[in-house]
Amino acid sequence: MASASLDIAKRTPRATAVTAGDAARLQGIEKTAELRTEPAAAPGRRSLVGLTREELKDKLAAVGVPERELQMRVAQLWHWIYFRGARAFEEMSNVGKGLRTALAEAYTLERPQVVSEQVSKDGTRKWLLRMPSTGPLDKGAEIECVYIPEVDRGTLCVSSQVGCTLTCSFCHTGTQRLVRNLTASEIAAQLLVARDRLGDWPGKAPPEGAFVPSDGGRFVSNIVFMGMGEPLYNLDNVVGAIGVMSDNEGLGLSRRRITVSTSGVVPQMARLGAEANTMLAISLHAVRDDLRDVLVPLNRKYPIAELLQACRDYPGLSNARRITFEYVMLKGVNDSDADARELVRLLKGIPAKINLIPFNPWPGTKYECSDWERIERFSEIVFRAGYASPVRTPRGRDILAACGQLKSETEKLRARARLMLESGIGAEGVYALGDAE
Ligand code: SAH
Ligand code: SF4
Repeated sequence: MASASLDIAKRTPRATAVTAGDAARLQGIEKTAELRTEPAAAPGRRSLVGLTREELKDKLAAVGVPERELQMRVAQLWHWIYFRGARAFEEMSNVGKGLRTALAEAYTLERPQVVSEQVSKDGTRKWLLRMPSTGPLDKGAEIECVYIPEVDRGTLCVSSQVGCTLTCSFCHTGTQRLVRNLTASEIAAQLLVARDRLGDWPGKAPPEGAFVPSDGGRFVSNIVFMGMGEPLYNLDNVVGAIGVMSDNEGLGLSRRRITVSTSGVVPQMARLGAEANTMLAISLHAVRDDLRDVLVPLNRKYPIAELLQACRDYPGLSNARRITFEYVMLKGVNDSDADARELVRLLKGIPAKINLIPFNPWPGTKYECSDWERIERFSEIVFRAGYASPVRTPRGRDILAACGQLKSETEKLRARARLMLESGIGAEGVYALGDAE
């Protein structure tokens, strides 16, 4: 039985002072006060996969590459890792044998482990990924990542955190408690895993029978940060990962094909625009504060008016770069004609697209998806007001891969963890369990 453990957020006090009033106001919005930003340093060889140019430079310097060669060596490694998808240092034919050996002794090119792959009837693929262990008691954090192929594009839905600190009442991930931020390399590595699994590297082919775009482009042509977690609560790492994913000499994804979705972390939105320059999606879901307070509790901190002002101020906003507003269709909750008309009124003046998402049910939820006629009627009102209002076809429902259904297997440990916590056993103790869990 392998010793195993999972990551758990260190519940450290907030860095800034929080008044009693604030604390009361925030209660119920977030499950943890602050996340641990990085996993503890792992013993043994670290993988170079997912690292930024700066980080690679440090790793090369650490094995003795002289300063004058660093830039050239970084460029070589960059090409092999991110353009060719190299899995071994031996493949790097233009890197001298001496350096290849030194690199192999100090580092690896390992990816997060693919614990499971599920393929939906509609071709959607969901991977459960395990991050490298960060210590003897850590089995490695688990996250989910979903690939949605269409004829002319392939969208990868990536996670930015293990679980989510927020508690949106209709979201499966919101019920998950164990959380830490993913590092930039762990976020970027999700794209490499997808390319590995899809055979999307020079000289490689997709698996037999796989559904991939047939337009001659990359199999992963778009990224959405709509997996587990709130990307704007992990912005530094998200910005770092976007830098790696969009680098022209490597993975080469246009920033206009990368969309970051937020539940509305208003103070971070300007930074996202300035530093990542990606497309923005807002999880709006309600047009009145009293309802949004319930669906997206972060609304109590940043109400609708403030959120929409931050949207109006989003850098680079134009008709060519519209903001996507996501609106989950919940039966009898937010789906009336009046809601649709208010939505249109609220968004006036903001270059916007509205994505109507049929609610994806998950075990234990109290919500239901609106009826199809209701969704069509809602969509019609929005459309007549001049907004594109596509209804997002649910994908991968049979494998729980659709929006808001993601929740990793780590969840199985939750009840046990709670029991042990309640009986005074440190949380870390819970994770020294076997794979049998
Ligand atoms: N935390 C970010 C990004 C991840 S959630 C955010 O909230 O925007 C990605 C999208 O899926 C969000 O719009 C979210 O509101 C939506 N979503 C969550 N649960 C859902 C469910 N059960 N059915 C449909 N959409 C859901
Ligand atoms: Fe977190 Fe987004 Fe789910 Fe809300 S909808 S709980 S912010 S992942």
